[in-house]
Amino acid sequence: MRIDLHAHSTASDGTLTPAGLVAAGAEAGLDVLAITDHDTTAGWAPAGEARPAGLALVRGAELSCRWYGRSPAIPLHLLAYLFDPTAPALVAELARVRGSREERARRTVERLRADGVDVTWDEVRGYAAGGTVGRPHVALALIRAGLVADTDEAFEDRWLGERYRLPKEDTDVFAAVRLVREAGGVPVFAHPRATKRGTVVPDSLIVELAAAGLFGLEADHEAHSPAEREHVRGLAAELGLVVTGSSDFHGSHKQVKLGAFTTEPAAFEAIVAAASGVPVLGP
Ligand code: AMP
Ligand code: FE
Ligand code: FE
Ligand code: ZN
Repeated sequence: MRIDLHAHSTASDGTLTPAGLVAAGAEAGLDVLAITDHDTTAGWAPAGEARPAGLALVRGAELSCRWYGRSPAIPLHLLAYLFDPTAPALVAELARVRGSREERARRTVERLRADGVDVTWDEVRGYAAGGTVGRPHVALALIRAGLVADTDEAFEDRWLGERYRLPKEDTDVFAAVRLVREAGGVPVFAHPRATKRGTVVPDSLIVELAAAGLFGLEADHEAHSPAEREHVRGLAAELGLVVTGSSDFHGSHKQVKLGAFTTEPAAFEAIVAAASGVPVLGP
């Protein structure tokens, strides 16, 4: 069984459509693939309709969260699986965060323009193509303007990594765990030790989140060193959390391939057993 529980489509900052993503999942030899776009379930229906017969589809999302226990607050990502996509409180919160993302992208463009950089909001919005807008769409505008060679360079400190990194109004992480659970979903902390993306939270927060309903930790991820993967595994074992591994595939916005990291069948089965929002689709 090859199980990849974290992938993005054009519903957020991936470059394959939801239909293209499930086709690529089958092509890559996966048995199970989760679609986890940032702060949206817009890809669920088209991915479900296009699902190849041999591929099981886990419907999920990656929620933009923040821990307010430090100043400044620390951003983090929560994967949410198999939740009810009509649960009113969660639906409202996802819409609010998407609105904040749009606001942030507009302000980022304004700041770039104020510094003489030739990018426009219309262009960035066009790259997002109706999906959740994110910094990778601003990165495309910087690439088009000839200012950076690729997405990685666009995320360096002098661009979107620091100088033009504006905050968005993310969901409090404890509220997010509660909303996902109330919607019958299963929350898993995405790449909890991804130090290259910024400050990571202390293990003491993960202990608190486990008590608050967190179900798992993503250990095997390209942003974790082998030592960090081991550390996350140890923490999960201590806290009785499941461990996942996934590619966090974004199409051509990143180098990583579907199935580059995978999840053990037992962990996947535990997630499915804990969920009551929507079922896994097929086979
Ligand atoms: P946002 O959610 O809009 O703040 O943008 C974060 C997204 O940008 C992540 O989900 C990744 O897709 C991408 N990203 C973050 N850091 C990097 C990086 N160092 N290089 C390339 N892409 C990145
Ligand atoms: Fe992303
Ligand atoms: Fe993430
Ligand atoms: Zn992701």
